Amino acid sequence: IKSFSTAAAAAIDEPIHPSIQIDHTQLLINGQFVDAASGKSFPTVDPRTGDVIARVAEGDLEDVNRAVAAARKAFDEGPWPKMTAYERSRIMLRFADLLEKHTEEVAKLETWDNGKPYEQAAKIEIPMVVRMFRYYAGWADKIHGFTVPADGQHHVQTLHEPYGVCGLIIPWNFPLLLYSWKVGPALACGNTVVLKTAEQTPLSAIYVSKLFHEAGLPPGVLNVVSGFGPTAGAALSSHMDVNKLSFTGSTATGKIVLALAAKSNLKPVTLELGGKSPFIVCKDADVDKAVELAHSALFFNQHYIHLLQGQCCCAGSRTLVHESVYDEFVEKAKARALKRVVGDPFKMGIEQGPQIDNEQFKKILKYIRSGIESGATLESGGEQFGSKGYYIQPTVFSNVQDDMLIAKDEIFGPVQSISKFKDLEEVVQRANASSYGLAAGVFTQNIETANTLTRALRVGTVWINCYDIFDAAVPFGGFKMSGQGREKGIYGLSSYLQVKAVVTPLKNPAWL
Ligand code: NAD
Repeated sequence: IKSFSTAAAAAIDEPIHPSIQIDHTQLLINGQFVDAASGKSFPTVDPRTGDVIARVAEGDLEDVNRAVAAARKAFDEGPWPKMTAYERSRIMLRFADLLEKHTEEVAKLETWDNGKPYEQAAKIEIPMVVRMFRYYAGWADKIHGFTVPADGQHHVQTLHEPYGVCGLIIPWNFPLLLYSWKVGPALACGNTVVLKTAEQTPLSAIYVSKLFHEAGLPPGVLNVVSGFGPTAGAALSSHMDVNKLSFTGSTATGKIVLALAAKSNLKPVTLELGGKSPFIVCKDADVDKAVELAHSALFFNQHYIHLLQGQCCCAGSRTLVHESVYDEFVEKAKARALKRVVGDPFKMGIEQGPQIDNEQFKKILKYIRSGIESGATLESGGEQFGSKGYYIQPTVFSNVQDDMLIAKDEIFGPVQSISKFKDLEEVVQRANASSYGLAAGVFTQNIETANTLTRALRVGTVWINCYDIFDAAVPFGGFKMSGQGREKGIYGLSSYLQVKAVVTPLKNPAWL
């Protein structure tokens, strides 16, 4: 295996300082920064080095109780659900403007805490967050119900009303983007919110929530509790005064959260969970283009920038290639991975930074060893990149069989698994033989093939001759064990609204 540049690997030993001060590390409850009731804090770590960036207040049950009480009061007594939707919309728009103005600082926090390339954060993700808030601000004053013909004797109308207090739990891979997917629609509908950030990446949400208050958000409407899953997350999921829950994270945790919601007050739950998404390269594919797209589908690509480190829920992590182009594809996929630029995410031109933490780092290397031991062919990578932090070499396996762990489990790292197929019937059967159903990619020049596969694949998103194209207006979510419900677009909005039917007789009833 041709090795990666040793100069690049050595360069990561001298991490660039992000030149930003961490000012906010407390919980945000009722519009105030406060310490955890227990006085405890936990370290958040720089994935480039393993060094502690800052200690952050560690919220648990008591803090969740305080935050939910504040959100409850803000919903029941505060102005938020009662103010005009137009006014809510204006506050959200002002926040979007402020966030846009602070893109640089926010992107620095995101990169420092998460390890994603700064260019990805600043040029793609924060603008997407801004767009998401503008999109949902636009919806705030367009939410309305219907009139229903019913039996002809009654006037029936539906009112679309907020649930009340929403508990939102997010993971570490897209801290602010997923914040926007949940906070945006929840607030637009007039709900109030308690958000629990991921313990690996608490910093950016606290910072931007402060901006939200500067934009005019009333106290108690948006509360942020940093902390761990089994304590703060579980307390939120099982809270009797939380009326709606929205969770993004692993399928295993999603099951726990759903059970906690069921056992407490049966609150409705939206789940965005894991994936093992197929990327299907058909026999008529232009191989060079297919290689590039499959590469970015796995390692993550947004609008032709190939950044990130495979830590995406919808990563195209099963590359299924038609036998007629397979050998050429494997050779070129390997060459592409070897060219991938790994390094300090604060450096321009970097395609891949470190994995989030030591746990993920070790887990990914374990999967790589399992791939080798189970007989897949290691084409490139397979080891730590450099000697510091949590960097992993872009790794490509060919000759991957469906029963291997690397073909079945969500690795959540820079590991591409390529296998061969003979015909469409076979590839549909194999693509669908997964407990996940988040997304799929299809690469073909034949419209009939595209149509056939689109309808046969049991997934929430199919990207034809593209991948990872996201927009605030386009729904996202999973079939099967990849989730329940949808986020973004009008579908995402509806999951924060409940419907009330109001029935009035058309003529004076007898009892009047
Ligand atoms: P995770 O499930 O470990 O954690 C996610 C969140 O849940 C964190 O905030 C965590 O603190 C909390 N949590 C953990 N245990 C909990 C408990 N017992 N009760 C309540 N909350 C608890 O997931 P992760 O490793 O942080 O994130 C990666 C996962 O997220 C991957 O599986 C990925 O596919 C998934 N993901 C899905 C989407 C999507 O839209 N479908 C998007 C991004 C990430």
